[in-house]
Amino acid sequence: MVGWLFRAYGEVCASHPWEVIVATLTLTVCMLTVDQRPLRLPPDPYKDCDWRNNCSGLEDYNAADMIVMTLIRCVAILYTYYQFCNLQKLGSKYILGIAGLFTVFSSFVFSSSVINFLGSDISDLKDALFFFLLLIDLSKATVLAQFALSSRSQDEVKHNIAHGIAMLGPTITLDTIVETLVIGVGTLSGVWRLNVLCCFACMSVVVNYIMFMTFYPSCLSLILELSQFGESGWPTWHDSSFIMRALYEEDQKPNPVVQRVKVIMSAGLMLVHAHSRWSFAREEEALPVVNLVTGETIVTSKSIFSSLLEGYNFKWLTVSADHIVILILVLALVVKFVFFDLTNKFQPGDRADTYTRMLAVEGWVEVSAPPRAEGSVVPTEHKGVQTEQEEPIQQTPSCGLLEEEPTGIASVDLDDLPTEDRSLEECLKIYKSTAGASALNDSEVMALVAHGYLPSHQLEKAVGKPERGVCIRRKILGVIAKLKVALTHLPYLHYDYSKVMGACCENVIGYMPIPVGVAGPLLLDGRLIHVPLATTEGCLVASANRGCRALMRCGITSRIVGDGMTRGPVVRFPNISRASDAMKWMETPQNFQALKESFDSSSRFARLLKIQIRVVGRLLYIRFVATTGDAMGMNMLSKGTEVALGFMRKMFQDMEIVSLSGNFCIDKKPAALNWIEGRGKSVVCEALVPADVVSSVLKTTVHALVDLNINKNLVGSAVAGSIGGFNSHAANIVTAIFIATGQDPAQNVGSSNCMMLMEPRGEDGRDLYVSCTMPSLEVGTVGGGTVLPPQAACLEMLGVRGANRECPGDNAKSLAQIVCGTVLAAELSLMSALTAGDLVKSHLQHNRAKASAPGSGCGQ
Ligand code: NAP
Repeated sequence: MVGWLFRAYGEVCASHPWEVIVATLTLTVCMLTVDQRPLRLPPDPYKDCDWRNNCSGLEDYNAADMIVMTLIRCVAILYTYYQFCNLQKLGSKYILGIAGLFTVFSSFVFSSSVINFLGSDISDLKDALFFFLLLIDLSKATVLAQFALSSRSQDEVKHNIAHGIAMLGPTITLDTIVETLVIGVGTLSGVWRLNVLCCFACMSVVVNYIMFMTFYPSCLSLILELSQFGESGWPTWHDSSFIMRALYEEDQKPNPVVQRVKVIMSAGLMLVHAHSRWSFAREEEALPVVNLVTGETIVTSKSIFSSLLEGYNFKWLTVSADHIVILILVLALVVKFVFFDLTNKFQPGDRADTYTRMLAVEGWVEVSAPPRAEGSVVPTEHKGVQTEQEEPIQQTPSCGLLEEEPTGIASVDLDDLPTEDRSLEECLKIYKSTAGASALNDSEVMALVAHGYLPSHQLEKAVGKPERGVCIRRKILGVIAKLKVALTHLPYLHYDYSKVMGACCENVIGYMPIPVGVAGPLLLDGRLIHVPLATTEGCLVASANRGCRALMRCGITSRIVGDGMTRGPVVRFPNISRASDAMKWMETPQNFQALKESFDSSSRFARLLKIQIRVVGRLLYIRFVATTGDAMGMNMLSKGTEVALGFMRKMFQDMEIVSLSGNFCIDKKPAALNWIEGRGKSVVCEALVPADVVSSVLKTTVHALVDLNINKNLVGSAVAGSIGGFNSHAANIVTAIFIATGQDPAQNVGSSNCMMLMEPRGEDGRDLYVSCTMPSLEVGTVGGGTVLPPQAACLEMLGVRGANRECPGDNAKSLAQIVCGTVLAAELSLMSALTAGDLVKSHLQHNRAKASAPGSGCGQ
């Protein structure tokens, strides 16, 4: 509710920037121009000050006063400097500028106007100025600017500002209340000087809050709206901190415990104030105030406040020792900030920037400042200012390791690497030399990535050791606290990444261990096979295992009835007559032969079988069908198709290749075409299960199974309008074997097409005849994930690892037959469980038991 209110409020400010800005400025000008002099009280009887704040007793500082004030001023200036340094680390001149300008503007201009309005002299601000500096919190203004600058459109600006206000509003509101009450305690001290300063500080806090909630969001919205009309097209202010904001968003959410403490604190402070002010007011009865409307003399808290303000006097231009100290300090800091810090941005220790830079280099986000051009001057001394964010290399985020594992660095020979970071220029030199990035320590490599000198996806190659490359990438991600925690549970050690690089995965950060179970033995075509199944679904392996057991006596017979991987490009002709001419040309046997020769030339194993053509207007969809040996063959088909189309283009120069894949293939999408025409391997298998096995192992009857198969797998799926889904869970087995054996898991879409048939057979129909038809199994034993050692091991278990030397293609076909046979076994088991009403019981037993054990329901 509170969040919603602030969000709506933020939206109003961001949507009507002109209105809010004009209203705020008008109010400010009004307050500045109100002449308070006739309304002022007579000289303060206590302090003997007149309305110009000429207090005779306070004209000169005493020594102690001067020392205290000088200290306060120095602390204030150092604190401001520290805040600017932090802002600078965000790496955006826009954020720095906007947050800085706003804070200065609101703190001084608006506070001055309010002070003027309340009747005090603006010169009173002189000492309070340093208190303002101490109170300024640039971080909130920065965060809101980040929210706004991360937008990609004006609509998003409004949304993001509203979101920012919703996120920050409640915290800032509460903070303001607490700050005001805490500082307000100072006004009860009775110390004259402290009273005045605390009054100013309270007022400044409140004014700042009001400005932050009104003027600031409106200004942000307006600036961004105007900048969109620049010549550059896309707004120049777009900032890469989008990712940072998204990732750190949770950090902006208030901690409920802290919030509660603040509320309790506020309540307590209010009590203190109420009590003290009440008694104070009574004591201050001698301080009358003239009510301007009625002319009556009254006593209010404002009388105390005004008297405090009015009683203070100071000469604005007094030059004393403390002023000289302050001046020197300010000058020194300005010089340091401008000449050293600004040129030392994005050092290796700057984690957030490193991360953002890396993402930017990878093209995931845009950055406002381009990476430093090669050869540009990079300061050699990068340890200029060590802030709290910068950590020595020993404290860089860990790779995210399971606690019991040794560290990734330990497994890499890094003994010779320096433990101290060198300058970026030095690192770059080493990187470009023959030593390469492998001679740099992790933190230095991260710095190169951050500056765009080394693309993150080339880390493994650059450092020469794949595991170290993976480790460094994890460190970069580990900059974000919650990712670092998450990564501790994603293993990465002891894995052969050399097989992964350039073949199976990019930007690797680890590997996903999936439990692998075994079902079997499966008696398939006279061979006993143990089938590995990678799954997290309890009951699945147990169920398949029971099916294998039921089929042990009769065995399964399987046949390959079709083999042909497909790729279906779409080409365009000027008109339908040219499109139909091309179709006829391709259908002519000698032309097809020429096309086949060009296709076949692309591979030693891919052989074009046929082409299927559909004309749609002036478009031509051509489905190339080819055998691919032991490979699943998608890449081979793509390559061959490209060559064949190139050949065709010579005949039809007005042919435009719209896409190498026109979805007529059709790959990884449900389609009737694959179900009807087949794709990859088309397999069928059968078994005749004896009656006693049906009753003893499957614990059901033939009649019940046949009846269920008709009504569920055939009629039920037809009612659902299914294409190729005439089975109970073929996809379970297909996916589990695909993952275990390194197939492309996304191809479970078409590969799971399956029709189960069951009928009573044998003497009096007591035995069960069951068949399984799978027309589009897209499998291979070479290429893709089959090269990875664990996947290759599972293929080895099945006796189909790699290429078949004697008869290329036989291993892939065998694998397809194994998949089909295992599907048949698993179907039999699950259907039996359904007829016996065991499904829920078995699943609960296997899915929810803390330590799974095979049970009678679907497994044993
Ligand atoms: P591939 O690894 O790209 O090609 C197979 C390679 O193995 C070829 O170089 C082939 O030689 C060679 N080879 C050696 N012995 C062989 C044998 N007995 N039988 C067949 N080839 C043999 O594998 P692919 O199956 O064509 O493609 C699979 C990959 O494609 C998977 O990673 C999959 O994720 C991905 N995929 C790609 C697309 C796409 O649109 N391109 C779509 C889906 C999936 P030759 O060079 O002589 O042919």
